[in-house]
Amino acid sequence: MEIPITEYLEQLVAANREDSGETAQYIPEFAQADPDRLAVAFATPDGRVYCAGDVETEFSIQSISKPFTYALAIIDHGLAHVLEHVDVEPSGDAFNEISLDPETGRPMNPMINAGAIAVHGLLTGADREARDERLLSFYSRLAGRRLEVDEKVHASELSEAHRNTAIAYMLKSLGKLEGDPVDVVHGYTRQCSVNVTVRDLARMAAALSAGGRAPDGTQVIDPGVNRHVLSVMATCGMYDSSGEWLTRVGIPAKSGVSGGLLGVLPGQGGIAAFSPRLDAHGNSVRGIRIFERMNQHMGLHLMDAIDVPRLVNRRHVVNGVPVHEVTGDLRFVEVERVMRSFESEAPGTGPVVVDLSRVHRVKDIARRVMLESLRRLHLDGHEVRLVDPDEVLGTAHTGSGEIVRGEDAVGGYTPRLFHDVVSATGDATADSATGDSATVVNQT
Ligand code: GLU
Repeated sequence: MEIPITEYLEQLVAANREDSGETAQYIPEFAQADPDRLAVAFATPDGRVYCAGDVETEFSIQSISKPFTYALAIIDHGLAHVLEHVDVEPSGDAFNEISLDPETGRPMNPMINAGAIAVHGLLTGADREARDERLLSFYSRLAGRRLEVDEKVHASELSEAHRNTAIAYMLKSLGKLEGDPVDVVHGYTRQCSVNVTVRDLARMAAALSAGGRAPDGTQVIDPGVNRHVLSVMATCGMYDSSGEWLTRVGIPAKSGVSGGLLGVLPGQGGIAAFSPRLDAHGNSVRGIRIFERMNQHMGLHLMDAIDVPRLVNRRHVVNGVPVHEVTGDLRFVEVERVMRSFESEAPGTGPVVVDLSRVHRVKDIARRVMLESLRRLHLDGHEVRLVDPDEVLGTAHTGSGEIVRGEDAVGGYTPRLFHDVVSATGDATADSATGDSATVVNQT
């Protein structure tokens, strides 16, 4: 079977050839770039890439480098230290605006040049070369291949870096830049000059979608740092049209002046587009349109409430014993549904079976609330019989059949519930996934 995703992307490219806007003009490499290039790619969290259009065309990453450098600076120094230098507020200004907080002197966010330059200055490394190499190999790990700097673009960027150099000196004068301003601008323009294809960008986006895990499965960015970076991308990633982008497309994204655009669907994958003509905000015209079309077709928007709780609990009575069968992935909202079903058990009426054999994943909060609700069923006088072959509620239990949870699990309380299926005679859970047919267990 041929997976139809590539075909879909090809149709998307074919249907969005029409263009407007202008390529960036401030360096010859952009002014002379072929403006008709168009490419799109989608990468899954495990690194499979589907793409269409000019997928082999390399272009400099430009501002799309900013979230990744930001992640590395936080990895190097911790969030608190980085926040002392750069804030996380949308500025509503153009990318090269000298927008600093009038009180603290901090750049408004790391996605505009002032913030990105301050962030670059934070990178750990013995010297300029060491920092450059660290950054390049960090990007490369996320892209799943060795990336290279476009030396011509870098030379041009440097020769036009007057404004960025001014920003760096100003940051230095306010105590918001670590390192030498000229060195930092050298490194910052170099990070902007790293060559990528849409495939690389999609894979980098997919790594962010996977909580910071690279295509090869290694955890490159701590999940907490990753979430923070995605949050800043969501509010500040699209220059001074970040608000419009978030309302229309609704996913964390970052664009760059060479025409690249990267979007992240948390938990689902990464999308990248490339088309050099830009709108008045500096975002790729066709890149935006392609994301908007994909949103119409696929429903990307994170604010769509598609994840409403499903019915996860079925109560039935087997041989006079109530059985609660729970199915699927449990978050807090699903457990709330389960508890509503437990609520219907009148106190002190004998055994209750709770069958979790069809539960796959349980969020930590769901696990804790579930344990607490089982404890309450037990306090109501029920003999709670828990079927949990995959130990989704935890692995710590004693040989006597109790679940013994660590102190952190339920705030110091150790539930004394049963776990093991000790008899195979009844039929209370005859259709459970394990094939075990009974849940007659004694409480200690
Ligand atoms: N190298 C560019 C600059 O800092 C990056 C701009 C961008 O992509 O927004 O001027």
